[in-house]
Amino acid sequence: MQSLSSIEFKKEFTEHFDGDDSGDLRPRQTPGMLYSKAIPTPVKQVSLLAWSHELAAELGIEQPTQQDDLDILGGNRVTPSMYPYAACYAGHQFGNWAGQLGDGRAITLGEMTTTNGRSVELQLKGAGPTAYSRRADGRAVLRSSVREYLMSEAMHYLGIPTTRALSLVKTGDLVMRDMFYDGNPDNEPGAIVMRVAPTFLRFGNFEMLAARKEIGNLQKLVDWTISRYYPHITGEDKIIQWFIEVVQRTARLMTEWLRVGFVHGVMNTDNMSILGATIDYGPYSFVDDYDPAFTPNTTDLPGRRYAFGRQPAIAKWNLACLAGALAPLVEDKDQLGKALEEYDDHYWASHYMIMGKKLGLDELRETDVKLFDVIEKMLRAIKPDMTIFYQLLIELPLDADGDQVMQHFSESFYKTLSAEETETFVAVITTYAERIASNKIDRAQSQERMRQANPRFILRNYLLHQAIEELEKGDAKLFEKLQQAMKEPYSNKHDEFLKKRPTWASNKAGCSMLSCSS
Ligand code: AMP
Ligand code: MG
Repeated sequence: MQSLSSIEFKKEFTEHFDGDDSGDLRPRQTPGMLYSKAIPTPVKQVSLLAWSHELAAELGIEQPTQQDDLDILGGNRVTPSMYPYAACYAGHQFGNWAGQLGDGRAITLGEMTTTNGRSVELQLKGAGPTAYSRRADGRAVLRSSVREYLMSEAMHYLGIPTTRALSLVKTGDLVMRDMFYDGNPDNEPGAIVMRVAPTFLRFGNFEMLAARKEIGNLQKLVDWTISRYYPHITGEDKIIQWFIEVVQRTARLMTEWLRVGFVHGVMNTDNMSILGATIDYGPYSFVDDYDPAFTPNTTDLPGRRYAFGRQPAIAKWNLACLAGALAPLVEDKDQLGKALEEYDDHYWASHYMIMGKKLGLDELRETDVKLFDVIEKMLRAIKPDMTIFYQLLIELPLDADGDQVMQHFSESFYKTLSAEETETFVAVITTYAERIASNKIDRAQSQERMRQANPRFILRNYLLHQAIEELEKGDAKLFEKLQQAMKEPYSNKHDEFLKKRPTWASNKAGCSMLSCSS
C-alpha cells in the first residue's frame, strides 16, 4: 500500500499524443491536439466525505489522513510525476453535431498500475477550468458529486461495466448554480470526485479527429485503443474486428441497464465509453414504475430521446456516429455498416439471455420469446414498481389463484388496477407460473437464478435526494447507509429500502426528474 503522494504516475497518453502543453486555461479550439495541459485550480479546504475502500485496496492506495494527501484529491496539490490534462473530444448532443466539447471539468492526473498489474487513469471531476470549459466554471456541486460517487460504485456492485469513484471531497468553496434553469441561481457547496477507469476515451474522441480530418491522429488513437484495451485483436482487419467488439459490448451494456432499470439520461456520443462501460453520471435514474417513456432529464422532456425504452436504439445511433468517424480508416466501408447492423442480433441475444435469468427459466425455448413479449407489454400497461415486481415474482406461489396473485403483487402497484387490467395481469402471471412449472431445474435453483439477476436494492433518486439534503445539513447517516446498501444490491440485508417511491417524491425535483445543472 502506498500513499497518494507517493504514487509514481505514468504519462503514457500525454507522451504518446500531441497536446497543448502551454497550460493555458482560456477556452479555445485546439486543432491538432488530443489534450491540453490543465493544472487544477486550488480550492479553499479539502475534506474527505467518502472513500472507496475496496477500490483503494485494488489500487494499493492507503486512505489519506494527512492534509498533504487529501489535497491531491481536491486538486490542491500536483506531485512531480503527474501531468494533469483535459482530453479534447467532440460529440453529438441530442442528435445534433456539437463540435468540440472536451473535458470541461475533468482533469486526468496520469495513469498508474494497480496491484494486479492493470493500468488505470485517475481523474478529478470538478477541479476547475480547462481549455474546454467554454463558458462554464469547471466545478461540480456536492449534489451531483454525491450522485456520481454513489451510482458509479453502485453499478460496479450490480456487476455492470462502469467507471469507478475512489473518493469524494468537499472543497470548502461555494459554486453558483441555477438548478431549475429559471433565473434563480443559488450557491451550493462544491465537491470533487476522483474517478478511475482504464481509460475515459469516448466515441467523441474519435469523432473529433475525423471531423477535423486529422487522419494521422485518428489512426494513431485507434491503434492505441486497440493495443491497450483490446490487445487480443490483431491482424489486417483489426479496425473492423475492434468495431464489432465495441458494438457487442455496447449492446450488452444496454441490456444490463434494462436488467436493473437504469436510465442514463444523457446518451450523447461524448458520454459513450469506448470500453462499453457506463460513464458520466448526470441526471440518471432508475425507473421506479416500469415506464419505457420515462426520462429523468428535464432537458430531454420535449423529445424523450433518452427515455428508458429508447436507450438500445440510441446506442445504435451513437455507434453509427462512431462508424462514421472510423470510415476514413477503412477501405471497405460496407464492413462497418454490416458490423453496425449486427447490433440488433447482439442486443436481442443478450436481452433474451438476461430475461431468461430474470424470470428464472431453465433454458431458452422458442416459445419463451412470446412470454418475454407478453410480460413486457403487461409491465408497460400496469406500470408496477419494476424492482419490487421482480422480487415478488421470485416468491410467487405457483398455485396461486387470481385473488392470491393480486394480493401477492399488491405492494408493487402504484395505482388501483381496473377490472380489465387485473384480468391481464393475472393471465400473464398464470402463463408465467405454468412456464416455471415446466422447468427442468427445481424451483429453488430457478429462484436462485432470479436472485442473482434482479437487484433487491437500487439507489432510487428520492433516496439520493434525501441523503444529499441531510448531508448538506451535516448529517451523513443516510449517505453512509446507502454506501453500505449499494455494495450488496442482491441481498435482503437492506430491506428497509425495499419500498415504492413515496407519493411526495413523484413530482418533486431531484426525486424523479433532474436538470443537467451540476
Ligand atoms: P455532460 O453533458 O455533463 O457530459 O457535459 C457536456 C460538456 O459540458 C462536456 O464537455 C463537459 O465537460 C462540459 N461541462 C459540463 N459542466 C461543466 C462545468 N461546470 N464546467 C465546465 N464544463 C462543463
Ligand atoms: Mg460528459
